[in-house]
Amino acid sequence: MNKYMKQERFHGIGQLGQKRLRESHVLIVGVGALGSMSAEMLARAGIGQLTLVDGDFVEEHNLQRQLLYTELDAKAHRAKVKAATKRLQEVNSEVKVTGCFQSLHNENIQQLLQGVDVIIDGTDNFETRLLINDAAYKWGIPWVYGGLSGSYGLSLPFIPNQSGPCFRCLESFLTDDEDCDTYGVLGTTVQMVTAQQVTSTLKILTGDKVQPSMYKFDLWESDAGYIAVQPLQKPTCQTCGNERTYPSLRSDQSMRNIQWLCASSGVHIRPKEAQNLHLPRERCSNHLWTYLPFSDVCMLRKANRQVMLFQDGRATIRGVATTNEAELLYDEALAFLYEQV
Ligand SMILES: [Zn+2]
Repeated sequence: MNKYMKQERFHGIGQLGQKRLRESHVLIVGVGALGSMSAEMLARAGIGQLTLVDGDFVEEHNLQRQLLYTELDAKAHRAKVKAATKRLQEVNSEVKVTGCFQSLHNENIQQLLQGVDVIIDGTDNFETRLLINDAAYKWGIPWVYGGLSGSYGLSLPFIPNQSGPCFRCLESFLTDDEDCDTYGVLGTTVQMVTAQQVTSTLKILTGDKVQPSMYKFDLWESDAGYIAVQPLQKPTCQTCGNERTYPSLRSDQSMRNIQWLCASSGVHIRPKEAQNLHLPRERCSNHLWTYLPFSDVCMLRKANRQVMLFQDGRATIRGVATTNEAELLYDEALAFLYEQV
């Protein structure tokens, strides 16, 4: 019995399309809500190779909408890529799954894109999307954007060799739509966005024509439709215009890269140079800080604020109101750690 029998009978795929899927490599940036759902659908569809990039951990509040993860993953503070890789191998052992426990940045993106046919956006911030967009247009790799907030969502494929706007051209039209910290997220919105993202990906990989139109919907309000975005291409765009400079690929001169993480109300900090921190194996504390080691990460708690810290110095800070406050807390957490050595 052929595992993909029903999919091969579908006129848009067929046996040839299925063969192309088996020979394809998809990079999924971020395996939170959107990325984990896309990964599972593509694994079930028989994609040859999946690479997952994510520097975050499973937490209990993810489970409402991130279908690959369980309570056990949250309890162990397991890295999302680790939990996702295990689950995807159980779903379909024929798929080669590689999990990269890191965030995407301008120094690792070129290497991660080697041999990749399509990039799927599973991120929650515009900075990373602009980076994906610049890389995709520079190296000619299609990518599929997905965004959501509450019951509202949108998706759009970007094909570098086709006419139409890129993500940077549309940035001002998309920015205000995404505030999932304020409006929350309905789990079904995730499924609707990923249905569009994965379908676009299957069409690109099987060689079908993909139109540059944006699918926009509000599940709660029973509203949906496609919007033609072709006229919004900007000739002066730094990514797809006449003079391309790909600004997000330029090397970052600041000491630290700092990003707000939408869905988790946190701040991600990455030092310019990778560190080699001494992380105690045992729990320890003083009057301000509590230190807890887990399987993939350690956590430092100070009152209701927390720092999830990697050995290389990356951290996710939660319970802070500003990036300045996050940096201050990060420095205090490192100072506490040095005292323990
Ligand atoms: Zn553009």
